[in-house]
Amino acid sequence: MKKCSECNGKMVELKAKTPEGIEYDYFICEMCGEEIIKAEKLHAVPQKHRLKRYNAKISKLREGLGIKIPSELVKKYKLKDNGLVTIISEKEGIKIITA
Ligand SMILES: [Zn+2]
Repeated sequence: MKKCSECNGKMVELKAKTPEGIEYDYFICEMCGEEIIKAEKLHAVPQKHRLKRYNAKISKLREGLGIKIPSELVKKYKLKDNGLVTIISEKEGIKIITA
């Protein structure tokens, strides 16, 4: 039996799901509610759902500048020539929202 490091109470094993739908096991203390997540599962979450980063080249267009969107993303978001997206200005940069 696992014991709580905070109060020495009994820890029970439970299962939960992350918002991404990954199941993981964790222990919760019956006495104080202290939670311990099994480390190996916790590491698997960011590994699987790490945000992919792409480098894109900026080119001059007739008006303004254009960004070359990688073909992987064109397929994923079903982007089309002359299609419309929404650009949001954020502190860290710009975000492109596809419809
Ligand atoms: Zn406890």
